Amino acid sequence: MKKQLEKITPRDQDFSQWYTDVVLNAKLVEYGPVKGTIIFRPYGYAIWENIQKILDMEFKKIGVENVYFPLLIPESLFNKEKDHVEGFAPEMATVTQVGDKVLEEKLFIRPTSEVLMANFWQKEIKSYRDLPLLYNQWNNVMRWEKTTRPFLRTSEFLWQEGHTIHNSPEQAKKLTLKILEIYSNFATNVLMIPVINGQKTEHEKFAGAQETYTIESLMHDGQALQAGTSHYFGNNFTKVYDIKFQNNEGKWEYAYTTSWGVSTRLIGAIIMSHSDDLGLVLPSQISPIQVQIINVQNTDQVESASEQLAKELNQYRVGIDRSDKTFGFKISEAEIKGIPIRIEVGPRDLANNQVMISRRDTRQKMAVPIDEVQTVVKNMIQEYDQNIYQIALQNREQRTSHAETLAEYQNLLDENQGFVLVPFCGDIACEEDVKKKTSTNSRCIPFDVEQTKGKCFNCQKDSELRVYFARAY
Ligand code: AMP
Repeated sequence: MKKQLEKITPRDQDFSQWYTDVVLNAKLVEYGPVKGTIIFRPYGYAIWENIQKILDMEFKKIGVENVYFPLLIPESLFNKEKDHVEGFAPEMATVTQVGDKVLEEKLFIRPTSEVLMANFWQKEIKSYRDLPLLYNQWNNVMRWEKTTRPFLRTSEFLWQEGHTIHNSPEQAKKLTLKILEIYSNFATNVLMIPVINGQKTEHEKFAGAQETYTIESLMHDGQALQAGTSHYFGNNFTKVYDIKFQNNEGKWEYAYTTSWGVSTRLIGAIIMSHSDDLGLVLPSQISPIQVQIINVQNTDQVESASEQLAKELNQYRVGIDRSDKTFGFKISEAEIKGIPIRIEVGPRDLANNQVMISRRDTRQKMAVPIDEVQTVVKNMIQEYDQNIYQIALQNREQRTSHAETLAEYQNLLDENQGFVLVPFCGDIACEEDVKKKTSTNSRCIPFDVEQTKGKCFNCQKDSELRVYFARAY
């Protein structure tokens, strides 16, 4: 047991090393042969599958349909939208040769698929009756990132990219915000991660978007993480790609589009929000195993009691560890894997008609009569999820502050504060300047903070925005 636990560096000693240790020890991923790529092991992929299942259902509830578009984008197609090209060009991997033949036209590996959608819609859409189209695809994309870290920032990542097209700006904006709400509810109620909903500044908005909305989370060490984004494009793309529809008066109009995505980065957010020195702590709804039954001894009596319990708990994902590993090893393995509830079944407890139940977050352990197991597990899972949410929320609240000047802001950063609310002019050049001076940037213009007038914390010009800045992943 000791041997395994020694592999995880204490979280408060070295957060970055702790993160890597947890990711590798919990057997979520292994590094791929190309820098910045990761191999999803079964346990890591199972978490992603649970995220997919729940989100996919939410998207479908509002009428989204799944599609699959090709991986490659011809250069000529990509180069039409200037802001989009500028934003992505430095990160794009390119296919230039097949066998020993140099291609006449370069092909980009998709960093995102707005361009492919636009090209398809150009041919597809004719009348207002064809709209809206609400598409989503679960796929991989490539962005050749300079610094990479498993889940948080990888060169190839898995995500969902939603793309929609509408006949009015109001409808498109409404969809953009509806998706943000789905993301926000998912983070809060499924991942148990508190998030701030808001709009990105001009500097931080998506390449080619008119407006970008975001959910921002704060990790245990006080650094922010963008957990999901939803973009409103207006008719930026439809003008460039000439996507028009005939309205109900027979006049031709440009359509309005959106796009939105969350990625495997969410797994990184879960780890950095909830996990501890013993390994993962997983929110119950996405945990591949929700209840782990551990046979203290491998006797027939224990085995049949465990199987009976598993049957009774069939509304959960239940695992039975009947391996011949030592009892201590089985426990530490369940802890490293972040399984919310553990039930230990042993001959001595069975003689008293009871089992031991413990929860991963508080590690409290108690003897429970066998016929009460179902009720205890049900309540415990709810309390567990609420508790990990509260811990993350407390951390965020303790690390949220405000500043009026750059000097104040820098002091707060030195004190390892997380989100700092500042009056900000919103200028791209001013944000660039803050970034140069502090290596931090804006996270969002929050919806739930009153936007009052003031003097910009950096350039002192009049400002109308209150914006969260933070150090971020
Ligand atoms: P974007 O298309 O840039 O708005 O990103 C969509 C989603 O993917 C956001 O939730 C990002 O945080 C996430 N994301 C962006 N780049 C990466 C990356 N290199 N690795 C993992 N996730 C990413």
